[in-house]
Amino acid sequence: MSQASGSEFGAHLAIDLDALAENWRRLARRVPIAECGAVVKANAYGCGIEEVVPALGRAGCRTFFVAHLSEARRVRKVAPSATIYVLNGLLPGSASAYHAIGARPVLGAPEEIAEWALEGRGRGCALHVDTGMNRLGLGSSDLQRMIDGAAHERLDIRLVMTHFSAAEVPDDPANLRQVTRFANVADVFPEAGKSLLNSSGHFLDIAPPYDLTRPGYALYGGNPVPGQPNPMQPVVRLTARILQTRVVADGEGVGYNSRWHARGSRKLATICLGYADGYPRNASYTDALPGGHALVGGVLCPFAGTVSMDLIVLDVSDVPAADSVRGAEVVLIGDGLDLDTVAAGAKTVGYEMLTSLGRRYQRSYSGQ
Ligand SMILES: *Cc1c(COP(=O)(O)O)cnc(C)c1O
Repeated sequence: MSQASGSEFGAHLAIDLDALAENWRRLARRVPIAECGAVVKANAYGCGIEEVVPALGRAGCRTFFVAHLSEARRVRKVAPSATIYVLNGLLPGSASAYHAIGARPVLGAPEEIAEWALEGRGRGCALHVDTGMNRLGLGSSDLQRMIDGAAHERLDIRLVMTHFSAAEVPDDPANLRQVTRFANVADVFPEAGKSLLNSSGHFLDIAPPYDLTRPGYALYGGNPVPGQPNPMQPVVRLTARILQTRVVADGEGVGYNSRWHARGSRKLATICLGYADGYPRNASYTDALPGGHALVGGVLCPFAGTVSMDLIVLDVSDVPAADSVRGAEVVLIGDGLDLDTVAAGAKTVGYEMLTSLGRRYQRSYSGQ
């Protein structure tokens, strides 16, 4: 992108495809006896299906998981021979759309199983077993009924999977319960592949890798082991430019409803990015509650006041004057200000931060 068109954008999202591929290889190395897949739902966690899938494909990834059929269609366009699973399963009447793109539904309810048995034309599918999350998947009584009625014998089940509810908390007792329940279910389907691990699962000592893993967040640089150093490389760098600066006197209020007041004379910088760009309004920094931060000239600066639709105000009092001029670039994610820290400042998780990343940024891809 040229300088001229670059200046049409207030904010820039840079995605490092080499770091993404490296993260996939690191996860794959943790499960050498299994195949490492990739979860690319929600536009590859905001990073772009059309760029992320080919980059992972070149690294060796052959199996992709999405949430929606519409996402599977986009994956198929850029990965003609990949295996694609749709985690949210079979919406009524969608079997023919699955056939058209050669994707496999992850079936998790008796009605879905019945419909695929009728309309699936014997094609491959996955079975989602609930082991304690109570969200998607067959519970133990539905599973027993399916086995008793031999309904599964009319299906070509390629994969049996379950999903952890708290894999990022290693000592949560739910993990062992889910591992044990899944081990019992796995025995019932000796022919099918098994899949258990999400990103954090790759770092959970009690969880066997089985045949295929399903990392998402960690691929995109999220920390799969909260509270410990992040073993992944950062993938996303978000920057925005300073529109103007001002000095406010002690006691002056800033932003909508003056939720933040200057303590002493403060220098402020207004940057070209807000909640309409996907930066959470919950990162607002008020007198009562701290919020988000950004790096200006390498100095960590707190937000001042509420996050507006298109703008955020920063307190840049501690930044050398030469680094906080109009047009200067401010780092919102990157350069050591990691995704999980940023998310905490916005009272959310890095997952939501990533998947909210707006369309108004200038996007660029590096690597490969
Ligand atoms: C989103 C999702 C994953 C990936 O989880 P991460 O924590 O992002 O690695 C894996 N499995 C299922 C069923 C999911 O919905």
